[in-house]
Amino acid sequence: MTPSTSAPDDAAPDDAAPDDAAPDDAAPDDAAHDDPPILLFDMDGVLVEGRGTDETVHERALDDAIAERGLDVDPETRALLSGYEYDADFARGCARLGVDPVAFYGLRERHGERRVIDRLESGVRTLYPDATVVQELAERYTVGVVSNNYDGVVRFVVDHHGLDAFAHVRGRDTGVRGFYRRKPDPHYLLDALDSLGGADGCYVGDRGTDLLAATRAGLDPVLVRRPHNDGLVPPVEPTVEVDSLSALADRL
Ligand SMILES: [Mg+2]
Repeated sequence: MTPSTSAPDDAAPDDAAPDDAAPDDAAPDDAAHDDPPILLFDMDGVLVEGRGTDETVHERALDDAIAERGLDVDPETRALLSGYEYDADFARGCARLGVDPVAFYGLRERHGERRVIDRLESGVRTLYPDATVVQELAERYTVGVVSNNYDGVVRFVVDHHGLDAFAHVRGRDTGVRGFYRRKPDPHYLLDALDSLGGADGCYVGDRGTDLLAATRAGLDPVLVRRPHNDGLVPPVEPTVEVDSLSALADRL
């Protein structure tokens, strides 16, 4: 185990930032890197049981945001605001209420993040038993987790379950920007590679969007086939397909 503290909530820490003004006289790329290869994991459906967040969380979070702002919302406007997405309907609903749509979406998502953490804390969803293999894999790889779930949720899961092998832990930011940086956007995967100082590796996921994001980040896509994604037809051919994380050690 080589626990190194994961990045704090804000952007990449200064100490990990490569020096832009690196001396050109040093051989740039030829040094044989002894660093272990990078192995990144999706969280929901890979480490944590179940596909992801229950949709009702977003509706309750919307109620929280409405209550916090003290808004009086008619059913038609409520319907426009309903759902997970930031879209024209959401903005239209906000216009009817006279609230800033980006700020209100961010507020709803922060309530959502808190609610998801509360649910996980109450034990509604737990780790897959084979998630413990990550600790073993960390002896051969630099391991990290990159998830579409909220950053606070991902950090909670890692802390709560003592997954201290991860050298990089990142969920998406709450709010519109974070929403649109979800996979298959490779944003947070590229961010992980940048922060870990590598370019080669694998990303282990359970959805088509994971495989797409992996290839867009230049990573080998690895598919974990579990009961919940049994029928998935991968949009790109995974480099490796396994039916458990335990099988990963022998297949990579
Ligand atoms: Mg997943």
